[in-house]
Amino acid sequence: MNIPNQPILFRALAALVAVLSVACAPLPPQRSDSSTGARSEPSGRPVSVTAEWRPSPNVDGRRPNYVVIHHTSDSRIEDALRTLTDPARQVSSHYLIARDGRILQLVDDRQRAWHAGESYWGGLQDLNSASIGIELDNDGREPFAVPMIDALLALLRDIDERFNIPAPNFIGHGDIAPGRKVDPGVLFPWRRLAAEGYGLWCDPPYPSVPLGADTALMLQAFGYSVTRLDAAIAAFKRHFVPDDPSPLMTEKDRSILYCLVSQKQAGGAQ
Ligand SMILES: [Zn+2]
Repeated sequence: MNIPNQPILFRALAALVAVLSVACAPLPPQRSDSSTGARSEPSGRPVSVTAEWRPSPNVDGRRPNYVVIHHTSDSRIEDALRTLTDPARQVSSHYLIARDGRILQLVDDRQRAWHAGESYWGGLQDLNSASIGIELDNDGREPFAVPMIDALLALLRDIDERFNIPAPNFIGHGDIAPGRKVDPGVLFPWRRLAAEGYGLWCDPPYPSVPLGADTALMLQAFGYSVTRLDAAIAAFKRHFVPDDPSPLMTEKDRSILYCLVSQKQAGGAQ
């Protein structure tokens, strides 16, 4: 029996280790830290598990299922654009619409823009991963320009045709971050959007609320975080009862909320 001598055996083992290392090495393209070359997850946490990369062709980009609408709070679009493209600010949106109706696209729809921040809606805690963010060039105190809203509606039609987003899933930043954000504010024409199929709305006559229906449970069923009930109520009223800014839930407000929950559970506008 011809047993290889030790140096040859050592070289063979070294070659085998090298082959195995190469077999494990090709990994899916991921973001790397340019200073160290180390792979990291989008969160920035180093990847600690090595997986064998066997790419499948059966894949595409993410499929957004929500649209989150914002206003920039700026009076000039140039300022908003600078903020939304500044690496130091770490904020972005997929689209920015000017007062004259020009639509700027900043991030591909299939990628995750950074517009929602800490957020919650209907059980989801990372709206950035699931949504398209649209910023409107509006300072939060002025009426929304007509050409801007016309352009927004055209953009929503285009997004909806491509991603088939359910009507209840067109929401505002203030809805998903109650107590922290108020945009797009009480002047935003949610009723007009809902009439076109983007978002929900209830007009009179309102249904009567069943006995014992709890306000917090209804807000939660609709999507709101009720960790701070006062903030959830304020967000709901800003969106759905914009002519009454009081922080109280009247019986009429509860009827509107019940109507919205019923619409959502029915799968959209009735
Ligand atoms: Zn916002």
